[in-house]
Amino acid sequence: IIRIDNIVKRYGPLTVLDGLSMNVMPGEKLALIGPSGSGKTTILRILMTLETISGGHIEVDGEQLYHMAGSSGLVPADERHLHRMREKIGMVFQHFNLFPHKCVLDNVTLAPMLTKGIKRPQAEKRAMELLDMVGLADKAKSVPAQLSGGQKQRVAIARALALSPKIMLFDEVTSALDPELVEEVLNVMRRLASETDMTMLLVTHEMGFAHDFADRVLFFDRGKIVEEGKPGDIFRNPTQERTQTFLRKII
Ligand code: ATP
Repeated sequence: IIRIDNIVKRYGPLTVLDGLSMNVMPGEKLALIGPSGSGKTTILRILMTLETISGGHIEVDGEQLYHMAGSSGLVPADERHLHRMREKIGMVFQHFNLFPHKCVLDNVTLAPMLTKGIKRPQAEKRAMELLDMVGLADKAKSVPAQLSGGQKQRVAIARALALSPKIMLFDEVTSALDPELVEEVLNVMRRLASETDMTMLLVTHEMGFAHDFADRVLFFDRGKIVEEGKPGDIFRNPTQERTQTFLRKII
């Protein structure tokens, strides 16, 4: 469902992704792990077309995400096309990125009403189902400032699900949370992984969760995939020195 072919991403003189290629199968649950700065978040941002790229091809669900625009390099495809693509991919960010002045319900209904033209009653019905699923139906009228970090993140998950994406991207969604709030967010993600056939990509420093959640783990270092495999193999018997060193430090 995702085909990434030889992409290069630079920020000025810094090459963040250096000819990266990877494919993701429909329904696959993928964990991206690796040291800070290795380019994991950048991959998710590129898939959300929040970045330009310097080279390569990306296809999502059979459609090209970026096209060549002369001297600007590869830029996201045109707006209408992107609109359609963004309905296919939802993203949950480390810092929630909720609309602070809107209540929880409005946070969840806004995108479907604006981008899909869904009428308010129908959007609210679906939003309440999603809020119920993440255990927050009783907070529908609260604003984000009245919620804990874990609750905010569960709202962010409900919001991303409101467009019924085929692919969900999770970018270190628990790393800004107090330890006791991590589990409630991971539980929601566990349920999503087991109860839906969505394709899910997860950038995480929670190795235990990556192990249980993922069908496949990719270990990144300096913009390249150093090693990939089933979680059991990567975590128990990493073959590459760099993976071994990283896991020794973190586990
Ligand atoms: P972390 O686990 O810390 O989030 P990461 O593997 O997700 O790390 P990225 O966030 O993808 O890494 O960042 C890769 C590199 O790109 C880092 O060296 C970072 O400093 C750099 N970088 C990211 N965004 C920008 C930007 N907007 N401008 C310049 N450099 C950037």
